[in-house]
Amino acid sequence: MYARFFFSGSRRKQAHEPSIEELTVKEIIASMLAEVREATDDLNSEEAVERFRLAYLSRKGRIAQLFEQLKTVPADERPLTGKALNELRQITQSLLDGAVEKLKQSAGSRDRLDLSLPGRTQPRGHMHIVSQTIEEISDIFRRMGFSVADGPEIETDHYNFEALNFPADHPARDMQDTFFITEDHLLRTHTTPVQVRLMERFRPPIRAIFPGKVYRNEVISARSHVQFHQIDGLFVDQGVTFADLKGTLVTFAKMYYGSSLRYRFRPSFFPFTEPSAEMDISCYLCNAKGCRVCKQTGWLEILGCGMVDPNVFRSVDVDPEEHSGYAFGIGIERTAMLRHAIDDIRLLFENDLRVNHQFN
Ligand SMILES: [Zn+2]
Repeated sequence: MYARFFFSGSRRKQAHEPSIEELTVKEIIASMLAEVREATDDLNSEEAVERFRLAYLSRKGRIAQLFEQLKTVPADERPLTGKALNELRQITQSLLDGAVEKLKQSAGSRDRLDLSLPGRTQPRGHMHIVSQTIEEISDIFRRMGFSVADGPEIETDHYNFEALNFPADHPARDMQDTFFITEDHLLRTHTTPVQVRLMERFRPPIRAIFPGKVYRNEVISARSHVQFHQIDGLFVDQGVTFADLKGTLVTFAKMYYGSSLRYRFRPSFFPFTEPSAEMDISCYLCNAKGCRVCKQTGWLEILGCGMVDPNVFRSVDVDPEEHSGYAFGIGIERTAMLRHAIDDIRLLFENDLRVNHQFN
């Protein structure tokens, strides 16, 4: 049973204590509101929410019952009482809505904390194919006792050409399509200048490789690019012979391309080596039968090499009568392309992830 509505004013001023029947509508609404608020604290499940809704807000709920009793209220008080009841209903509804929302959120946060879910894998990066190739080649030479040196990418004419036995009017110099910065400064066209810098700084024996970027003023095509990478190598000591050169480079080729390969050295020409050679290996893609990559020859050219020209030694004050040495140069992109049968050098620089991710 609910308290009947009584109204503030004359009766409240009477001397006796108010009974429950005599509570004002204000007090009833206030006590109902307090009750509703307290009940909201327990709305921690869908069932509790539904029980709350049925108890207070359904058509037969307690607030509806209070509305029923509105007709017992004197007519002149009815509008205010009705307004107060409406407010009670609105507040109760918004408390219920708040509880439902909170329930949804905590359900969501329970989902986020579900430790049984599999973890999210973070994509892992990997080295670019060019870096991988440099690393692999460097590693093989390191194991053969070579240290790794570096030099500037902006070189002077002296280091890039002059000291390497390219005289000013040498036709080989025209063969190098060079990016000149000033008359005397240029983007190095090969990593070979580092050998000059090394021999200036250190006395023999010297055994080092020098990987790095090089630049040529060429039209970009499937076969050539304006910027690519080389590894040059140098070994200088007393009594170094072509046999040492062959031993080192054949060992490298077998370690890098496979121990069953066949190889050959063809005479060639470089201004800074004499004699000079190019090294070929049997095509491992077609087993030397002839394919697109080896251009049907069964052979792949993998590097250039030779004995250090006496003129190069003289330019760095090393006595060619006392010392001898060999030098070699490997094109990194070419090596990577041969190794992985890539037919367009541009693929190595476009950073298309569909390409890069194939060399993970
Ligand atoms: Zn082939």
